[in-house]
Amino acid sequence: MMKRYLLTPGPVTIPPEIALKEALPIFHHRTNEFAMVYKNIAKGLKYVFQTENEVYVLAASGTGAMEMAVANLLSTGDKIIVASCGNFGDRWAEIARGYGIEVISASVRWGKTIKPVEVERALKENPDVKAVYTTFTETSTGVANDIKAIGGIVSKTNAVLVVDAISGLVGQEFRTDEWKVDAVISASQKGFMLAPGLAFITLNGKAWKLVDASKIPKFYFDIKKYKKFYAVGETPFTPPLTLITALQESVRLIEERGLKNIWNDCKLLAKATRAAMKALGLELFSEVPCEIVTSASVPVDIGVKIVKTLREKYGVSIAGGQGDLKGRIIRFAHLGCTGKADLLAGFTCLEMVLIELGVKIKKGKAAAAVEEILLRT
Ligand SMILES: *Cc1c(COP(=O)(O)O)cnc(C)c1O
Repeated sequence: MMKRYLLTPGPVTIPPEIALKEALPIFHHRTNEFAMVYKNIAKGLKYVFQTENEVYVLAASGTGAMEMAVANLLSTGDKIIVASCGNFGDRWAEIARGYGIEVISASVRWGKTIKPVEVERALKENPDVKAVYTTFTETSTGVANDIKAIGGIVSKTNAVLVVDAISGLVGQEFRTDEWKVDAVISASQKGFMLAPGLAFITLNGKAWKLVDASKIPKFYFDIKKYKKFYAVGETPFTPPLTLITALQESVRLIEERGLKNIWNDCKLLAKATRAAMKALGLELFSEVPCEIVTSASVPVDIGVKIVKTLREKYGVSIAGGQGDLKGRIIRFAHLGCTGKADLLAGFTCLEMVLIELGVKIKKGKAAAAVEEILLRT
């Protein structure tokens, strides 16, 4: 038996407080007991999303909520802008095209951050677009996008702004209402520290107007059903009750620590992670690094081996690159209940793997860089 360190940007380690809840017996979902739990969760989710609007819970991975945000806001033949800077941003375009939506690109190269002025230009050139779809923290590249700036731009037009905050919510400052984001989605296996299986979506009044006009056929992902049942403290279909019980604990833990503290915790770990990558001679990959995962370029001949060796030999899971970035970058996550000691363990093992794979580094460099940051705070 080897202790496992899950330092991937989702799924993340489930803290014991939450894991224990996942072991409790389930109860029926058409009961007052469930309604009480669901109402508790509903209140907590408004805090986590920083919104006054309702947040719906659905049984799906994050992509299910993405599909919901396309199928409920648009009609076949509509035009949208997709501002992507990586694999998950590109997914918006793939889903939309699947529904016969015309996609206009305001995207940038993977590793770069989205340029709000490009979004502004695309909106001016295409005044008939229904929505702008983008990503908060692009997990595939470790890039953060300036959602506040994009929200300011899109809110001045008739288009709505839809943001995938699946990995960034909880770990990095995100304010749905204040930043004028019309629709936000997230999922359970990242900042919420739960097992995968739940997704979340919230819409404001501007987005609901599009729901009323949407002609795409749908049933399970029809958001109107979720709204109707939310009013009585239920979900339209049988929810994964185990995850719902755990979600109540997740939201409680987040409220207890407080979002501002969690944002600062992740910021500190991100800073130490970036310093450790540099100490290992690895160049940071992202133009504007986010605070929940750090990506760095690695020699292509050993890129895949680093991740595999680290997992098999030391029980430490980090992520490699996706798509064209496979073997070219590594991604080290620092969200959820990841702590300072995990960082020291993860980087010391990563350093040993690099040395074993022939990279010339002096022993102890990465840990020293992490210590340097941690001792200063
Ligand atoms: C993880 C992730 C997704 C995909 O979520 P699934 O739960 O795998 O469907 C989408 N977008 C971002 C930004 C993510 O980090």
